[in-house]
Amino acid sequence: MESFPNIFAVHTLSSDIGKLVRFLQQKGILATRYTCPKCGGGMKLAPRKDIGDGLTWKCCKKQLHKILVQRTLRKGSWFAFSKMSLSRVFDLTYIWVAQLSQKNMKVLVDGSISSATVTDWYSFCREICIGTLLNRPQTQIGGSGHVVEIDESKLAKRMYTRGNHVEGHWVIGGVDRETKECFLVTVEDRTRGTLLGVLRDNVLPGTTICSDPWEACGSLEDEGYLHVSVKRSESFKRSLPLKIRNKEMLGSHLAEYVYRKWRFHNKSMEERFHAYLDDIAAVYPPATSDELDSSSPEQAGTSENSC
Ligand SMILES: [Zn+2]
Repeated sequence: MESFPNIFAVHTLSSDIGKLVRFLQQKGILATRYTCPKCGGGMKLAPRKDIGDGLTWKCCKKQLHKILVQRTLRKGSWFAFSKMSLSRVFDLTYIWVAQLSQKNMKVLVDGSISSATVTDWYSFCREICIGTLLNRPQTQIGGSGHVVEIDESKLAKRMYTRGNHVEGHWVIGGVDRETKECFLVTVEDRTRGTLLGVLRDNVLPGTTICSDPWEACGSLEDEGYLHVSVKRSESFKRSLPLKIRNKEMLGSHLAEYVYRKWRFHNKSMEERFHAYLDDIAAVYPPATSDELDSSSPEQAGTSENSC
């Protein structure tokens, strides 16, 4: 398995498209096979010079189909969300995981990338956080003597998180300050019953809850919790970028905050990157046929049946 002691090792791999594709296949992020939608046979990965990825899935039975049936390398994968080169997407993903500064980013990525493109990709990175956290088995965190920081925010309307209906919902996330155990759930409303239900399901009695004032909840002491009320949980607030262009993106930032606290706890940078790549593969296992590719947006040019 590839080693990534630093960003330059990442860039060395991403600069070799053949090696990068093999690595992403090994990690389960890109498909290792694709079924021809016309004949059901296996397609072959073949060179294609007129597209950036340089490789495409092709069916060998051109004479049978009368046309060349092909699919792009990234069809049905997480990478289908972007029109950037695979190399750049890979580099940007590392930069997001490592939280490198804009200055460091410019060393690696040439100046032609716009801040809007970076912002968009980072929002897809956060969707992996949401998908990973929502797919975890539910356990109760905290307990007597533990402080659990809890916050809530709304998710944007546009979400691609596979397997989870989360559009426009609220998310409630919690992190145990000591153990970094966490939970993230989506709710459709913020009534007292809903909020208390989330607490009962996810936080052990006796826990000290650190959260915004929850007027809807009334007294949490009556429910067996201690409550420290702060104006938007201080740690989450401090983690936010100075400028968030859309307040409806706060929900995904909350998911990122919870994910980083839990998933990256006590891990080296290299371990974090591998853990994140594993989570991409788990949240977005690549489609191996058109039927399985139901939740990804079509990348321009990916649905061509012929050329
Ligand atoms: Zn075919």
